[in-house]
Amino acid sequence: MAAAWQDVVRDAAAVREAAAVAVDAALLAGVLMRTGEQPHASDVVNYAPFTLLPSAVPRALFEQAYAVQQDFNLLVDAVSQNKEFLEETLASTIKVDDFTAQLFRIYMQVLEEGLAQTVFLGINRSDYMFDCGLDGTAALRQIEINTIAASFGGLTSRTADVHRLVLNVLGKTEEASQLLPNNPAKGLALGIAKAWELYGSQRAVVMFLVEEVQRNIFDQRCVENELWNRNIRVIRKRFRDVFEQGSLDASRRLYVDGQEVAVVYYREGYVPQVYDEQNWEARLLLERSRAVKCPDIATQLAGTKKVQQELSQPGTLEKLLPSHPEAVARIRATFAGLYSLDEGEEGDRIAATAIADPDRFVLKPQREGGGNNLYGEELREVLEKIKDSPERTSYILMDKIRPQPALNYLLRAHSPLQVSECISELGIFGVYVRQGQELVLNQAAGHLLRTKAIEHADGGVAAGVAVLDTPYLV
Ligand code: ADP
Ligand code: MG
Repeated sequence: MAAAWQDVVRDAAAVREAAAVAVDAALLAGVLMRTGEQPHASDVVNYAPFTLLPSAVPRALFEQAYAVQQDFNLLVDAVSQNKEFLEETLASTIKVDDFTAQLFRIYMQVLEEGLAQTVFLGINRSDYMFDCGLDGTAALRQIEINTIAASFGGLTSRTADVHRLVLNVLGKTEEASQLLPNNPAKGLALGIAKAWELYGSQRAVVMFLVEEVQRNIFDQRCVENELWNRNIRVIRKRFRDVFEQGSLDASRRLYVDGQEVAVVYYREGYVPQVYDEQNWEARLLLERSRAVKCPDIATQLAGTKKVQQELSQPGTLEKLLPSHPEAVARIRATFAGLYSLDEGEEGDRIAATAIADPDRFVLKPQREGGGNNLYGEELREVLEKIKDSPERTSYILMDKIRPQPALNYLLRAHSPLQVSECISELGIFGVYVRQGQELVLNQAAGHLLRTKAIEHADGGVAAGVAVLDTPYLV
């Protein structure tokens, strides 16, 4: 797997030439990001970081990841409709984690009032690494499933063309022709369009709920423009705008700035820092409304690390998907070891094991967006400190996945061209739409490969650690 481009990787002249071609191709293809210096400007932009070379991905594992995506869509949707399961699973977490607790309060409040929303849209991304066993064979292991604001489906729709060109420049024309087409932007837009149509009002718009600082706007525009091309109007609003301009009518139709909103597509709202009192109020207003939320608050809760850990417990999948034994088997085959740190003997035992051997594990709080997990010495220190306090239950433990590194170049604006030992993470986008109890759309919508240097344990593209990549199936 590591040997895909052995011959060119050390050829400094060829690499330099290919890198120059690659950067211009990325700019031409629209693999773009706003800059850190001018994050509000679209007239000063740069390319989003990406690998010079596509990374080798075992074909069987790639196909396995695609094959299980509809199952994961079903599962997330089932969890989101199961109040008892969410209540039981998150009971210990919400005692100690204020952010999850606040989401949960809104969830309960909305249920008590009764849902006005009848159409449901899920856009998720299930992320995997390829765990390398002692005998050298790789296995597909899920890292997590992102049920809110799963990003880079837009930009990654454009990276395969860049890598195809790079391989051609390097004389690898046969390999170039094998790179797969990939268009998550289209797939995500298809889901949003379906939800918009079922909402049933020609006048109504799709609202992208966006960040204060929108460095990744081009990724969002890829999806947005697909909607405009289907004659669906899109508006971009922040929580603050919703607080100031949002209201519900008597049948809880949502209006923002005078326009009826059919679909709210959250690209924000998954970290505690964005919520002040007004933004929580705006979130509640959106959740109470008839508009299709992508995701609704139940589905956001279904994506917590605590739920992920509970799903791995014996019997849980069977209970959630009783009439889908084959889906259950496919899902379970992707799970890594996940462990509860809830109070009690079992939690004591696994905490002690992790303190004794921290390199075997990752310690995860209930947070999204990268850079929150703890590894190695830091994991040991934190766990030592909290092992006898209830705070322990706001974390879960997970077996650390160990992929086989490969050499590549990470192209980043203003950074020197140097070879790095890298590992990759494969994400599959899932899209589904449910009307009442009927699932009317359930699809895998494309993939995202992100690659990072091995010295970084954590962090995604937005966090400045990982870069966009294209799988080269082997
Ligand atoms: P977040 O919600 O912050 O994205 P993730 O669970 O996806 O949290 O973890 C962030 C990053 O940490 C992943 O992209 C991956 O690089 C690394 N990571 C997470 N879990 C593991 C694991 N079990 N083994 C190895 N690396 C992991
Ligand atoms: Mg992640």
